[in-house]
Amino acid sequence: EWSIADFDIGKFIGEGKFGKVYLAREKKSGYVVALKVIFKAKLDKYRSHSHLRREIEIQHGLNHPNVLRLFAWFHDETRVFLVLEFAARGELYKFLKSLHHFSEKRAATYVASLAGALAYCHEKHVIHRDIKPENLLLDIEGRLKIADFGWAVQSNTKRHTMCGTIDYLAPEMVEKKEHDYAVDNWTLGILCYEFLYGVPPFEAEDEYVTFRR
Ligand code: ADP
Ligand code: MG
Ligand code: MG
Repeated sequence: EWSIADFDIGKFIGEGKFGKVYLAREKKSGYVVALKVIFKAKLDKYRSHSHLRREIEIQHGLNHPNVLRLFAWFHDETRVFLVLEFAARGELYKFLKSLHHFSEKRAATYVASLAGALAYCHEKHVIHRDIKPENLLLDIEGRLKIADFGWAVQSNTKRHTMCGTIDYLAPEMVEKKEHDYAVDNWTLGILCYEFLYGVPPFEAEDEYVTFRR
């Protein structure tokens, strides 16, 4: 039903592995959104159609004040478009870098928001599996929003795929054992530390050292 002709495209706001993200305005309503554009050729190259399908199905089914809304999606010959809630203040990561670390009060607010959002996801049997500061966004009022469900799964049973970012990997993932929703809770602890100290607790020059720690 939707097509690119329904939107005025604005500035470039972010780049990820598969997508470029632009500010956009729906012409009829004037509603401002973020449009994530994914090239089908890239999906072919990395064989990640199933990941994108999951990202869409899972995020579309979630509705929580601290989870970034996916309003709609559509595609044309070459591209897939995700119509996302716009998080005007951008990545929590950049904000953390600019302040070096957060006050206890601010850290507590983010941890509470993240914990609430994860509890909601886990209740729906959704595991995000890629919680890290780049995938946590802030809206115009500074509210935390979990974004990027590209690694998420919806399942009741234990999983085996190793994924996520090394500093935030739970031990059971590092050891390639089966894992469940508890891997998100591990990253909540890592982030709590990082919010207060500015760096994640197991960070090292060499990835191997991080694995060992
Ligand atoms: P990828 O799956 O390729 O990592 P993301 O969904 O994480 O893509 O988006 C890449 C970057 O674009 C994010 O880290 C963020 O900086 C920016 N971004 C994505 N979605 C939004 C949004 N809804 N509002 C504001 N910025 C966004
Ligand atoms: Mg991302
Ligand atoms: Mg992704």
